[in-house]
Amino acid sequence: MGVEDWLAGYDTNDLCIATAASHSSLQIFHGAKKLGFRTMAIIAGDRDLRYYDAFPEAKPDTVLRLDSYHDLIDLAPELRAQNVVIIPHGSLIEYMGAKDFTAIEVPVYGNRHVLDFESHRGKERAWLEEAGITMPREITDPKDIVEPVIVKYHGAKGGKGFFIAKNYHEYKRQIQEGEPHTIQEFVMGTRYYLHYFHSRIEEGGFRLEGDDGPLGDLQMLSIDRRDESNIDELNRIGSIKELQEAGIDPQFVVTGNIPMVIRESLLPKVFQMGEGVVRESYKRFGGLWGPFCLETIVTPDLEFKVFEISARIVAGTNPFIQGSPYSEMVEPGLSTGKRIAQDLHKAAGQGTLGLVCT
Ligand code: AMP
Repeated sequence: MGVEDWLAGYDTNDLCIATAASHSSLQIFHGAKKLGFRTMAIIAGDRDLRYYDAFPEAKPDTVLRLDSYHDLIDLAPELRAQNVVIIPHGSLIEYMGAKDFTAIEVPVYGNRHVLDFESHRGKERAWLEEAGITMPREITDPKDIVEPVIVKYHGAKGGKGFFIAKNYHEYKRQIQEGEPHTIQEFVMGTRYYLHYFHSRIEEGGFRLEGDDGPLGDLQMLSIDRRDESNIDELNRIGSIKELQEAGIDPQFVVTGNIPMVIRESLLPKVFQMGEGVVRESYKRFGGLWGPFCLETIVTPDLEFKVFEISARIVAGTNPFIQGSPYSEMVEPGLSTGKRIAQDLHKAAGQGTLGLVCT
């Protein structure tokens, strides 16, 4: 059984858009309601969801309350009976785990198989580098640290526990022994988190050509910068060196998002990177479509270094529920949440849901 079998039983005029009640769910529901879809919030445990009452334009029609997100696996037949399409976001994947999420027998918007590439550092790097992307250098032996590096624990969410080291001694002082981690060149520059959208079923706009013919189009809907505590405001009380001497280490925990625009002369490169990533994704795992984000640092030489890809909607799109300076030039008031709903709406209308869901 696969997505085409599940969709065969669907009333595609009456789809229900479901996602976990967190992350970007307000934006996803807001967009889905604009296109006339039914909406369902999924929540595990007894978390208070009354905050939805404060946002009637985004409040989901129903709430599915579970003991654990893993219960979604067994509930698949009930969800399919309600014509549910699941929109993945980072929190849902984190709560369920990549393995269980991939196993859900309910249509998921986007290519769920990207998870295998995204969660495997080697596969992700090979994919992005082949796509023409420059990534920060990786240092395998901590004794080789001779310039600033960032140390990232595997599976750490939202930058928690990451630290900067300028030499082996600083690494040794801060490392939690036994915790798997990656040591990466600390790229000096300014951060831009680029929010793309690739539709497989759209013909106009910025066209993408694959080796075997047209792939659809590519949009860049918005850009944010993450606000990270405490690194982003650390300079208010002294230099990092002074603070480290006082025993205060910088941390990278995401606490919010700031809207950004980028120099217009950098846009050709922005599209070139997005195009490369999408084209290469079709060669490696059948394609990356829907929203995705390249997390970049622009150096003083105006070069992009990409330290991460998120292959789905990112919370950095949340400042743009009314649209962004870029999406305004695509369609007034267009959010990423609404763009997802449009793609599903068009696919449902032309009988190609199997092309946008897996
Ligand atoms: P990540 O979990 O990979 O998104 O990283 C969390 C945060 O650490 C990012 O949002 C950046 O602020 C910072 N960061 C990650 N990688 C690098 C790097 N190679 N150079 C400088 N800063 C980085």
